[in-house]
Amino acid sequence: MNIVSFDNNKMVNYTILDCYTDEPSGLGVPPYIGTYPRYIYGKLISKGYNVTYLSIDDVRLLKKYGNKQPVITEKQRSRIDVINTTKNSEDIVKILENTKKLVVVLGVHTPGKYLSAIPGTLREVQTLVEDIKCEKILTGPAASEFGTQLEGGRKSEAPNKEIWDAIDKNYFDVETFEKIDKYAASGAKLLEQLNFVENRIVELETGSGCYRDIGCSFCVEANKPTSFREQKSVVEETKALMGFGAKHFRLGKQTCIYSYKNGDATELEKLLKPLSELKPLTLHIDNANPARVTKEITELIVKYCTSGNIAAFGVESFDENVVEINNLNSTPETTMKAIKIINEIGAERGENGLPKFLPGINILFGLEGETKKTHEENISYLKRILEEDMLIRRINIRKVVAYPGTELHKRVGDKYVKKNSKYYWKWRNQIRQEIDYEMLRKLVPKDTILRGVVAEVYDGKTTFGRQIGTYPLIVGIKGRLELQKTYDVRITGHMLRSLVGEVNRKV
Ligand code: SF4
Repeated sequence: MNIVSFDNNKMVNYTILDCYTDEPSGLGVPPYIGTYPRYIYGKLISKGYNVTYLSIDDVRLLKKYGNKQPVITEKQRSRIDVINTTKNSEDIVKILENTKKLVVVLGVHTPGKYLSAIPGTLREVQTLVEDIKCEKILTGPAASEFGTQLEGGRKSEAPNKEIWDAIDKNYFDVETFEKIDKYAASGAKLLEQLNFVENRIVELETGSGCYRDIGCSFCVEANKPTSFREQKSVVEETKALMGFGAKHFRLGKQTCIYSYKNGDATELEKLLKPLSELKPLTLHIDNANPARVTKEITELIVKYCTSGNIAAFGVESFDENVVEINNLNSTPETTMKAIKIINEIGAERGENGLPKFLPGINILFGLEGETKKTHEENISYLKRILEEDMLIRRINIRKVVAYPGTELHKRVGDKYVKKNSKYYWKWRNQIRQEIDYEMLRKLVPKDTILRGVVAEVYDGKTTFGRQIGTYPLIVGIKGRLELQKTYDVRITGHMLRSLVGEVNRKV
């Protein structure tokens, strides 16, 4: 680990450049605001430094567009590379000139598709910061041994050591819960520098590591010992964040919320109850291991969280052979049981128009042992879910990235991705056509009113928006609505994975 060498001169200007992060546990791509920049900010201001927060969109706007938002015509899409600028955008030239230490937060370990943001790649960011004259520190997931990769199925990128003065995921020494407890609440002040803070969702951390002794073959969290953050610290941070205008939260930075404090329901209630008493507009969870799902904890989640909530199950494969070879966390039958429990307790429709709490399923292409039979098994289980009249909120399909350091990387690397990639479009499409579409129609029937949809981007004469929460459904609405405003939307139709709607009411 690097020893933090803070400059003793308190007038040193630090600039945190958020290029966004996406990991198995923890999302920091807008509208999410991740933990890394907040904790670093908290620590630096506690030590008395001047700290400015910039997004990669600010720097792209400066370098690609001369710091003027490009005008988009009615035929064009929103420029999502520069849509998430901060309040500091106008002063960026001065800020960069005065920066003594540039702290770049970057790294994608679970590549996804993003509606209204583009995380930076190392290649892009290194080009953008190369000529900025100051000390440059690379931190966040990209500074770990796993590197970063924005596209599934590709090799991970490693930093160019010539550009960086330091490359360290934990450069600022804010990874242990002891340190996080000290600085997280102060980090809430960073929110002052964001635009549209009321529409951001704040990722909250409750634990780290995985409870399994030997983890899943592909996972960068595997083999990290578990530790849990105390409830008081999470609640104090949430209070501080609400004081700076945050209204939406996700307990997303942990590998399995059902495993909080070793799966002790009383301990989880001590976390969820005070959080719900703060009355945030959104309180959602993220990852859950189907093998850890219990009725008792599911009831607590439904009771204290807000509707539209999802337990994202890292199923990865319904092929028992692949499950075994890759030491995945749950067998297909265990997953089916967990889906049933959550449906029985959470499927009732809640205030925002969606079922209160449902499972979501992650499928990974390219794991060791994958054959055509793997896809057949996936389809067969997914069809069974439909036939048994259970609901799942979304199926997330990704191509695996064999990050260096993982078992998968050691054993087969991207061999299976290469071997089977000729099938992936067909496999994915079959799931989309035969499962997703049917599921979506059951989940959000025509005329459902979805409340609190934020208009995020334009594509020609259509506006795309989402509710704020975990894995929100995308709704296409005819016409160009004012962006970052909130609408109640009546659903009029279904696409394969998204909805069509019309404004019922501007909120
Ligand atoms: S259960 Fe598997 S995927 Fe989940 S954190 Fe542990 S090793 Fe990673």
